[in-house]
Amino acid sequence: KKLGVCLVGLGSYSSNQLAPALQLTQHCELRGIVTGSPHKIPIWQKRYDILDKNVYNYDTMGEIANNPDIDVIYIVLPTGLHAEYAIKAANTGKNVWCEKPMAKTVAECQSIIDACDKNNVKLSIGYRMQHEPNTQTVIKWAKTQPYGKIQKVRAEVGFNIRNPGDTWRMDKELGGGLLYDVGVYSINAMRYTTGTEPLSVIGKFENTRPEVYREVPETTLFDLEFPDGIAAHGRTTGRESINILRADCENGWYQLSPFQSYNGVGGKASDGKLLNTFIENQQARQMDDDALAILEDRPVMVPGTDGMKDIAIVEAINQSAETGEKIMLS
Ligand code: NAD
Repeated sequence: KKLGVCLVGLGSYSSNQLAPALQLTQHCELRGIVTGSPHKIPIWQKRYDILDKNVYNYDTMGEIANNPDIDVIYIVLPTGLHAEYAIKAANTGKNVWCEKPMAKTVAECQSIIDACDKNNVKLSIGYRMQHEPNTQTVIKWAKTQPYGKIQKVRAEVGFNIRNPGDTWRMDKELGGGLLYDVGVYSINAMRYTTGTEPLSVIGKFENTRPEVYREVPETTLFDLEFPDGIAAHGRTTGRESINILRADCENGWYQLSPFQSYNGVGGKASDGKLLNTFIENQQARQMDDDALAILEDRPVMVPGTDGMKDIAIVEAINQSAETGEKIMLS
């Protein structure tokens, strides 16, 4: 049996990644859409054979409750809208997949988790990397420590963005800037690479182009202290192209670069070992893993609590950068 997935928000990620990936999945398939743009409906219906009865807009979305074709509602909207629509989705009684970053605040994340718990449905956050095999090796090494104790972690994501444009990602409320958009990959990576949770956070903003980066910073630097003295350094920037996750250990090092792109995630270790298991499609792997967790009633790989921990750290980084103080996390 394949689960029926309904995509909410037909922007670039749904159009270019998720819908094509749903043609490759074995345990779920694209059956429904929720959109506020009527002109997209005939295009999507024709391209993906979507039935009239499985097409909704943001006002009618609650009616999915009565639609047996749909098992999962996948929220692929701007971050500032995730909580509102993930809660609406949970209240239909369908399982919820929600894109990263989970939401703008910890309170919003908690409200999504509560709504899913109340409705007894599963919630997965759309972090691709935890489903990717080379990343899974790094996650395993947090436990097995083949290069000895981890001492330092570095996780940086940046793009050489000449003009970020006037999009929701640059809007403080709807998007929150690069720290929310891609900084969460660094934060999530620090947590899965160490297998632990940070004790404290220091954040710092840099902005060399305030005329372009008006509401959100161009660069955010963050230093997290993990248990056992592990120091983690992160950076997210619109100035430079960079995509690296590196762990320095007592007896060597390993790194993935890129560590969060759609393709080519891989790397190497100090002894020459290659991390080079490549899969056809990350999103298909992610959605099949999440569909199987529903079909077999198992815990999901990336639950809401995981997404919420990253947002707690994002909030602490922003608070530290604004106050100049080190923030202790409990
Ligand atoms: P996008 O701007 O291309 O699409 C957003 C969609 O939301 C559009 O269809 C737009 O019409 C709709 N929308 C509804 N209300 C809106 C409003 N008030 N303002 C703006 N748009 C509104 O964005 P995207 O790149 O598709 O990102 C959507 C989500 O997917 C985000 O949460 C993003 O972080 C996530 N994403 C995840 C990955 C990943 O690798 N996991 C990659 C890209 C995007």
